[in-house]
Amino acid sequence: MSERITEQSDREPLSLGYFRSPYALMRLGLPGKQLKIASVIYSYSNLKRRPGAQCAMSFYKLAGSAGASVSTAKRAIRRIETLQGIDFTKESRDDDGRRLPCSRYSLHIKSGGAVTHFRFLMSLKFDMKDGNAARTLRDLEETIVSIFLTNATNPKAKKGFECSYESLAHMTGRSARGVEEAIRRLLRAGIIHRPKKGTSKHRKSRYTVCKKLRLMAGKEKLEDVKPNAEAPAKDRRTRAEIDADARTLWERHFAPLHARAQAIADANVRRAESDRDYAAVHKEIRGLEPAIARAKHDGDRRTAEQLTRRHASLKVLQARILSRLGLTAADLQPKYKCTVCEDTGFRKSDGRMCDCWRLPKSGHEGEKAN
Ligand SMILES: [Zn+2]
Repeated sequence: MSERITEQSDREPLSLGYFRSPYALMRLGLPGKQLKIASVIYSYSNLKRRPGAQCAMSFYKLAGSAGASVSTAKRAIRRIETLQGIDFTKESRDDDGRRLPCSRYSLHIKSGGAVTHFRFLMSLKFDMKDGNAARTLRDLEETIVSIFLTNATNPKAKKGFECSYESLAHMTGRSARGVEEAIRRLLRAGIIHRPKKGTSKHRKSRYTVCKKLRLMAGKEKLEDVKPNAEAPAKDRRTRAEIDADARTLWERHFAPLHARAQAIADANVRRAESDRDYAAVHKEIRGLEPAIARAKHDGDRRTAEQLTRRHASLKVLQARILSRLGLTAADLQPKYKCTVCEDTGFRKSDGRMCDCWRLPKSGHEGEKAN
C-alpha cells in the first residue's frame, strides 16, 4: 500500500494535463489505446485526497481523455473486465437500481511505479525526418518518451534514463524489436537523445528527452523536485521562476505560432488528399518507403533500385498533380516564422534556446508603443 501513495496525486490528473499508467498495468498486454483508457480510469480512482473515488465518465469523455475513439473505449472496457490481476469495478446502476447516466469505474493495481502521460505529447506533431509530413507520435513512441520524461523529472536521473531495449520491452509489454525501431525513429527526429550507447542490445543505453519537451512537461518537474539541502533556497526559486516564465512564453507565444503553421499545412494536405489522383499516388509512395528500407536491409539491391526508381517517378507525378491543384510540396509542410527553431523556441540543430525567445519580450515594448 505504501507503494501506491507515492504515485498518487491529490489533484485531478486530467485538469493538470496528464494521466498515469502503472508499469504493472502496462505489462498486462493491452493494446496502446486500450491501455490509455485503463490508465485514465486508474488515475481517477487513485486520487490521494479522495479515497474510493471513481471514474464517472461517458464513453465519449473517456475516449477524449485518452486520445482514443469511442469504439476503442467500449472495446477497452469489455477487455479490462476480463483482465486478471487488477481490481476493476463497473457500476451502471445506482443503489436504487436506476440506470446511471454514465457508468462509474474504478481500477486498482498493485504497482511499483507509474509513467506519466502528458496530454500535449499526444496532440503535438513532430517532423520525424523521414520525408513524410509531420505527425503525432504513435502509441509506443509516446509511451517511450513518457517513460523517459517521467524519469527525467527525478532529480537523481539528471543525466538521463538508463535502459536496454529488453527492459523497455518488459516495461511496455511490447517486443524488443518494436522498441528498437521506435527508439531509432525518435532519435532520428531529435525527440530523444542517447548520450551513452550500450555496446550490444543487452547493455543499457542512456537516454534523455529533448529540452523542448522537458520544458513543456515542466509543471510536473517542478512538483517533483524535492528540496535539496545543498542548493540554496533562493537559487531554486529563481530557477523555478525561469522555468515558469519559459512555460508561459511557450503557451502564449510559441504554441499558437507553431499550431497556426501546422493548421495551414494540414488544411493544404487535406485539400491535396481530397484529390483522387493525389491520394492514390500518395498511398503508393507511403507503401514504397518501408518496402525500399526492407529491401536495403535484406541486401536485395535490385529490388531496392527498382522500387527507388518507381518512387522517384511517383514523386514527379505527385508534384505535377499538386501544381494542378495550385499547391507545391512546400505548402504541405508547415511554414514557421522562425526556421531556426520552427517556432518551438529551441534550435533544431542543437536543442538550445533559440534567439527568437528574446524577441517577444523585447518586441513587447515596441508593440506597446504602437
Ligand atoms: Zn527561433
